[in-house]
Amino acid sequence: MTASLDEREQRDLLATACRILGKLGLSDYLGHPSVRLDAERVLIKPKHSPRVRGLQTMQAQDMVLIDLDGRRLGGPLDGGEEPPSERFIHTEIYKARPDVRAVVHTHQPMATLLGIVGLDILPLLHVESSVVQQQPVPTFPCAELVTTQALGAGVAHALGSHRVCHLQGHGIVSVAQTLQEATLGAIHLERLAEVNYKVALLGRPPRVIPSPELESLQRHLASPAGRWAYYAELATP
Ligand SMILES: [Zn+2]
Repeated sequence: MTASLDEREQRDLLATACRILGKLGLSDYLGHPSVRLDAERVLIKPKHSPRVRGLQTMQAQDMVLIDLDGRRLGGPLDGGEEPPSERFIHTEIYKARPDVRAVVHTHQPMATLLGIVGLDILPLLHVESSVVQQQPVPTFPCAELVTTQALGAGVAHALGSHRVCHLQGHGIVSVAQTLQEATLGAIHLERLAEVNYKVALLGRPPRVIPSPELESLQRHLASPAGRWAYYAELATP
């Protein structure tokens, strides 16, 4: 099997996503992004081990190629690492959502905290709010490791057609048509969760951005390329 240029590019992109999530404190050694290469294959961050450590150290060759049942496929570009035990979060979402081409799972602290107490993450903040345009953020009410297809299917069911979902007492998932957007979705969700947390502490009713304003914001937003370039530079080793 010859490796396509596309796989090389996606490996680079996925390693960059790992380093961004690590750099921003959304993931330490736990959590993993993935990207769908085609109908059968998914690239995913490897399982952590004494050799595979924090997300900030990930490189293109570390990424693991799996099929939609979570089996390792290998290949000429594959460094032989194991996929994460929670790969079924990703594979089951890809099965359920043909529109999704990237999945990010993190244990990011603030969004996870609000999921634990069931405090809504409302659209209170400018650009970041597009990630929660569908309200409320759904919840998968289970803190187990997602190590089976059945549990992964449960996460996919809870996510439904949304862009983000709580894994209660565990973390979150963010999905999108591109890896850049799924990663930015996780970043935006964390910022928004922090603002919602601080608003709750202030004890004053917030102004929730109405849907027409959110839709107008969406229409006028530049492509995510500039935001991605900023974070990629920030996370350059
Ligand atoms: Zn997890």
